[in-house]
Amino acid sequence: MPTSPSTLPVLPTSVIGSHGLPGWMYSALEMIDSGRFGPTDERELFDDAVNMAIRDQERAGVDIISDGEMKRWKFVQSFYRRMTGLQAQGPLRKLGPEGYDSVPRYQATERIKAPQGLGIVDEFNFLKQHATHRLKATCPGPVTISIHIRERPSVYRDRLELANEFVDVINTELKALVAAGADYVQIDEPSHSIIGGSAEDYVDLYNRCVRGVRARIALHICFGNLASRARFERTYAPLFPAIMDARADELVFEFANREMREVELASQITEKFDLGAGVVDVKSFHQEPPELVASRIRKVLDHAPAERVRIVPDCGFFTVPRWLCVSKLTNMVAGTMIVRSEVERGSRRGPRRRQRV
Ligand SMILES: [Zn+2]
Repeated sequence: MPTSPSTLPVLPTSVIGSHGLPGWMYSALEMIDSGRFGPTDERELFDDAVNMAIRDQERAGVDIISDGEMKRWKFVQSFYRRMTGLQAQGPLRKLGPEGYDSVPRYQATERIKAPQGLGIVDEFNFLKQHATHRLKATCPGPVTISIHIRERPSVYRDRLELANEFVDVINTELKALVAAGADYVQIDEPSHSIIGGSAEDYVDLYNRCVRGVRARIALHICFGNLASRARFERTYAPLFPAIMDARADELVFEFANREMREVELASQITEKFDLGAGVVDVKSFHQEPPELVASRIRKVLDHAPAERVRIVPDCGFFTVPRWLCVSKLTNMVAGTMIVRSEVERGSRRGPRRRQRV
């Protein structure tokens, strides 16, 4: 196994998880659906795709990489194939632009189980064997993973109870990831509003997923990214102060596509957590030049000390083409290098911590 560098630079760069799919992947997925691939062909395709994602991230200079989530489909859809107690219902809408109502849906017919786990450990084992950089493993949270499932009153009272069903599934997967060597895991969740409960319910749900998981834990919260569209009101404010009780080492928030709105939250967040700051807009075709990325990072450092900040894109890249994803990652790293050298020269440190009285 290749060795990993043991120390990270200040303002380490990483990704949220998914990599941009090349055009040939779409063609290959259609061929799989039409029955033209055998199991060996499929395995080779997905392994090659992961290796491509690894090389793209490493060549861009990203410090901590993922497997690009190349073995998943539409972020969570491939997990449903591993579950029992679900009945496929097809999309609500098949015509017109892609959106949240045009992906396959499922209904719970009995209590849902994932007897063989979510498969993320296998993804991580492959990544570990083929990468040379530091690694991050990603897992959808209970709200995200239940997003396309309709609760049925006879099985689950409401969305909160449905999401609760996945707490043990996720906790087991995370512990297996750590046993497989993962030292950095990220849970991906959208806004809390979808479950209808309070922010406290949401944080409690998340906290039970990571109980006893002995790794660096990041919690990524965003506003939705399917077909590059948000699904929720784009503000983190309703999560505070409840989110400060999250059992996490790092909160990973999107800022770039909101023109750095709410960046002042970095101050409160870094009183307790590290901040993964989204400074590249994954929903825009604008190839933000390095100097623009640098200016966004400086805005974060107006509110947070550099040693508490990690640099990431706003969200995953699965909704943009590969070439654009690579361009954005390359510019993200170049922009980070500008500010990193300023920090290392001592000309930019971030604010001094307030003295608590
Ligand atoms: Zn996201």
